[in-house]
Amino acid sequence: MLDQYRFALVDLETTGGQAREDHIMEIAIRLDDGCGRSLGQWQSLVDPQCSIPFFIQNLTGISPASVRGQPRFADVVDTVWGYLEGAILVAHNARFDAGFLRHHLRCFGYEYEPKVLCTLKLARTLYPDWPKHGLEAICDRIGFYSPVHHRAMADVDAMKAFLDYAREDKGEAVFNFELGLQLGLPVLPPSLSQEDVDAIPRQPGVYRLLGEAGELLYLGGATSLHEQVLHHFANCSGDSKATKLARRVCGIQWQVLAGDLSVGFHLNASLRYETPLMQRRTKAAGKPCCVRFIVNENGLTQLRFSSGLPASVVQSGEAVAIFRDRKRAKARVAELAKESGLCLYLLDILAEGEQCACANCALPNDGITVNGGVDSRNANQKIIEALSSYLYTPWPFEEPVFICEQNVSGFAEWHLLNDWRYYGSFVWDADAKLMREHIVPREEGGAQIDLESAQRRCEQVKDFQYEHYRLIKAFIDDLPCQTLSDFFAV
Ligand SMILES: [Zn+2]
Repeated sequence: MLDQYRFALVDLETTGGQAREDHIMEIAIRLDDGCGRSLGQWQSLVDPQCSIPFFIQNLTGISPASVRGQPRFADVVDTVWGYLEGAILVAHNARFDAGFLRHHLRCFGYEYEPKVLCTLKLARTLYPDWPKHGLEAICDRIGFYSPVHHRAMADVDAMKAFLDYAREDKGEAVFNFELGLQLGLPVLPPSLSQEDVDAIPRQPGVYRLLGEAGELLYLGGATSLHEQVLHHFANCSGDSKATKLARRVCGIQWQVLAGDLSVGFHLNASLRYETPLMQRRTKAAGKPCCVRFIVNENGLTQLRFSSGLPASVVQSGEAVAIFRDRKRAKARVAELAKESGLCLYLLDILAEGEQCACANCALPNDGITVNGGVDSRNANQKIIEALSSYLYTPWPFEEPVFICEQNVSGFAEWHLLNDWRYYGSFVWDADAKLMREHIVPREEGGAQIDLESAQRRCEQVKDFQYEHYRLIKAFIDDLPCQTLSDFFAV
């Protein structure tokens, strides 16, 4: 992963801490390849052409006398750029050095925006127990003797010693992983090999990321398992949730499924009784919310929110809109109404203390002629149109159906559905010539099914589930679908 990069280990001694005001008076650079082998090094004192504060002289041992007659930054800038261009900048407390280099190089027309590796950050991450992570403290800790400190090449050597120590001590895999994380490069957790990852198929399915003791960290679904799993380890940086997850993953399990619909069903079922430790839980939505269109005595449509999807409403064929839960219903309806310029007051969906800002309400009125000038038929039509993408679609079949999904390698699943409810996924067992229930985690799989048992199963009363409704609706037009009687007649 890091082979193709060069690393420029850099240390600067400066006349102060402000990149824009202070000056560089010593530079040391060591250029390494991705495996830590040296590609050359260079150092120089630099005449800062300004006075050097006493405490800086004391800290570094660099006096005005020692920089007199040395090259100015202008004299060495091309050499410096030759070392830095295209390399990853490595420095202890790298923000400091990066800031100085960026500013002073820019003065000579060089735009410097390198990838940055901070050895201070790296030391804190790899050795959180060490009480101090300054270069001197690190040298003491790892037994690296340096005759001087706060001189540029001495500090570069100390950084190099620390990098070698950490690589050896933590092992190549952990070391490269942490480097990759900091640099925002695609990384693999230390306990996963490239072979492990290559073995993950580019097929739809669900996957589990496991921790050291086999604990479930994350449960996900994907159209391509391979890409999705790798995605967890690409461009994690800083201390994001993704990074924390990547650090803990020790194993991956997956199950290939027939397609995205199947992934949706499996994920939905699994997340109901498995609790991944590092996954944000989608808050268990309450009951779905149905929005009814009630015409009042003035002939104007008002909206009513009610919980669940009452069977009576479905049977009556009344047009209703359906949402995941009441909270989302209220928020989305208010948004859509505003977008369409509808009057929230007339729709009767204003909460206490809320005001409508529609054109009609904005006019001064005497409180009596509120409905004045509203063409009720037009307004009612507009309301239905505004909510059109949320209108409940009646189940389009007279009886239960099998909807079939197949992946590119020919693996097929039949999902048993009725009235937007999901009753299980089945595979054709060619040897036994029968339909068998596809294994759902922790449930006894393998039950065979025939016309009669399928029909019985679909008679079980199940609550309307919004997730299943949306999922099935998204796929039902594009996938082959057969009624039970047709299916078993073949
Ligand atoms: Zn209004």
